[in-house]
Amino acid sequence: MTTNDPKGTALITGASSGIGAVYADRLAKRGYDLILVARNRDRLTALARRLAAETGRSVKTLPADLNDKADLARIEATLKTDGAITLLVNNAGVGGAGPLLGSDIDKMDDMIQLNVRALTRLTYAVAPGFVARGAGTIVNIASIVAISPETLNGVYGGSKAFVLAFSQSLQHELADKGVRVQAVLPGATATEFWDIAGLPVHNLPQSIVMTAEDLVDAALAGLDQGEVVTIPALPDKAEWDAYEAARRAMSGRLSNATPAARYGIAPSA
Ligand code: NAP
Repeated sequence: MTTNDPKGTALITGASSGIGAVYADRLAKRGYDLILVARNRDRLTALARRLAAETGRSVKTLPADLNDKADLARIEATLKTDGAITLLVNNAGVGGAGPLLGSDIDKMDDMIQLNVRALTRLTYAVAPGFVARGAGTIVNIASIVAISPETLNGVYGGSKAFVLAFSQSLQHELADKGVRVQAVLPGATATEFWDIAGLPVHNLPQSIVMTAEDLVDAALAGLDQGEVVTIPALPDKAEWDAYEAARRAMSGRLSNATPAARYGIAPSA
């Protein structure tokens, strides 16, 4: 679908490959101008040229290492000052498949910096402008490990649980200010992610692996349908709704002046 209806500009992190590159393709075809962010300048340039030629949209590239403070600050500055930006896709991320104790702590720290710190800072950079304009959308790419932390590396699961909780909290806080927030929870998706995580995707049963194209098309359909949390592979959405309803019902009982009776603690004073 190619449209001439201007949508503003989408800034996509991690746009040089995989899921981010498909978001770039789909959003340009939906009528967005693009700002593409990742470290690999050559890949960004090739994608930008192709999409500009195919869609006629303006496609800029901002090569940046989001784990580098100065680079991250440059992207934050763009998000703060470019009033044409209407959509932020926080997609850049890395994972790990190794067990916690078998993983290098410096690599785990880098993962937290990218998956958590960069995503948080970029959100803080863009959100005030969206609130001031009463419009804007933030799409955060989490993972199914956000709710299945026993799968893959624990720091990765923890980082994606942060992305999910942060997105839900943000949506709660910003929804009545005209800002939309969506968390996307991909299951296994056929991208270079798996090579970088140390477990090439051909090691997984192909029945559980989605293409990046199908994943992004479903995520955008979920966005169109107004979903706050989109789990493209989950067959029955009622399962997620029940899980959420149970969490929300329990949340009213999580704070009490006295410990639960099962602990046998006599109330102090
Ligand atoms: P991918 O193909 O490896 O893409 C990751 C992207 O992040 C690349 O564009 C990479 O570009 C960029 N990136 C990595 N480190 C960066 C840094 N320091 N600064 C800036 N950009 C950086 O993997 P993907 O599957 O598309 O991953 C996209 C998102 O989906 C991630 O957040 C991932 O956690 C999530 N996800 C993936 C799966 C899956 O099965 N594939 C499942 C659930 C969630 P450069 O190398 O050019 O910087």
